[in-house]
Parts: sequence; C-alpha cells; structure tokens
Amino acid sequence: MRAWPVRKPSAGGRRPAVFLDRDGVLVHNRSGYYLTDPAKMRIYPFVTRALRILSAAGFRLIVLTNQSAVARGYMTLRTAEEINRKLARLLRKEGAILDGVYFCPHGPDDGCGCRKPGTGLLKEAFRDFPTPRGGSWMIGDKFLDLRLGRAGRLKPVLVLTGQGKSQLRKKGRLPGGASAAANLLAAARMIKAAATGKSA
Ligand SMILES: [Zn+2]
Repeated sequence: MRAWPVRKPSAGGRRPAVFLDRDGVLVHNRSGYYLTDPAKMRIYPFVTRALRILSAAGFRLIVLTNQSAVARGYMTLRTAEEINRKLARLLRKEGAILDGVYFCPHGPDDGCGCRKPGTGLLKEAFRDFPTPRGGSWMIGDKFLDLRLGRAGRLKPVLVLTGQGKSQLRKKGRLPGGASAAANLLAAARMIKAAATGKSA
C-alpha cells in the first residue's frame, strides 16, 4: 500500500469529505490509456470550479486513485508521485486545495488491499483525516468507485466523463443508492444542494 498525503490534516477536526477518483473525473482519460507523463496531464476545465464549490460547502477533498501503470512498468513510482503533485499544484493555483492524494501503485494480480475497489486507500485517508462517513461522498467514473463508496458507507456518484458513459451503458443501470452526474461540476452542485439545501 502506498499513500501520499499532500498536506497533513489541519486542526479543523471532523469534517465530511468528498473522495474523488482522479482519471476520468479530474483529468482526461479514456479506456486503455495510462497517464504516465506529467506533461500530458489535462485537467477538465470545470474541475477547479467544482472543487471550490465543495470546499465552500465544508468538504475535505481527497483523491483516491489506482495507478497500476507503476506495477505494469509503464512509469516509475517517482513519476506517479510527480503527476499527483503537479495536479495538486495546478489546482491550488486556481484556489482549489486538495487535502490528500492516495494512490495504489500495484497491479490487479498483486493481491494488495489498496487497489480499488479494495478499501485500503480509504482506510488510510480515514486514519489521516477524521471523517464522518455519513455525510461523505465518493465520486468516480467507474463502477468500482461506486462499489468502494458503498463498502465505505459513502454516498456514491458516477460521473459520465472518462469511462462513466461506457460503464453505465455496459452495466445497464446504476447500483442502488448511487447517483449519476454529467461531470464533476454537476456532481458538486448536486452534493452541495444535498448538504446545504441550497443549489450552487
Ligand atoms: Zn495497492
């Protein structure tokens, strides 16, 4: 298991969190593609706005991402860290601050506990950040993110960017308790409305 917190929890105490998948949610992604070069990372244009809405609504922002390209030998651990650090830096410049980024560098056959939908990354984040599960959410573009959300007693949201649309088409319908949103901005507005009773 490998975790890399961007910043240590501040004294803020217990706060709900929005857990975010990275590829296909924050940055461009398509099936079979591995982001292995920081220079090729492209953040969706609506992301900083969405994250600012969630921060203002009182949520911590924590990224949980599978990066099996490390185990597959497509990039080094160092490059994987560099991509995550660059993401955090670019978002911060736009006023969207990530509390942490946790990633699994293992492959599907490594039997680790951190590869999603395993709950290792989530457990690690819970240890670092006191988080009430009830008011917390999990946003991803894959059904495995929804499964992780349910396993962690978070509210799962599928975004239709990245592989979201094709995943939904393939599976036919959302699992019980999950919602869908066109993209991260739509998801952020929905979550804010649910949390505060006001729309963004
Ligand atoms: Zn792992």
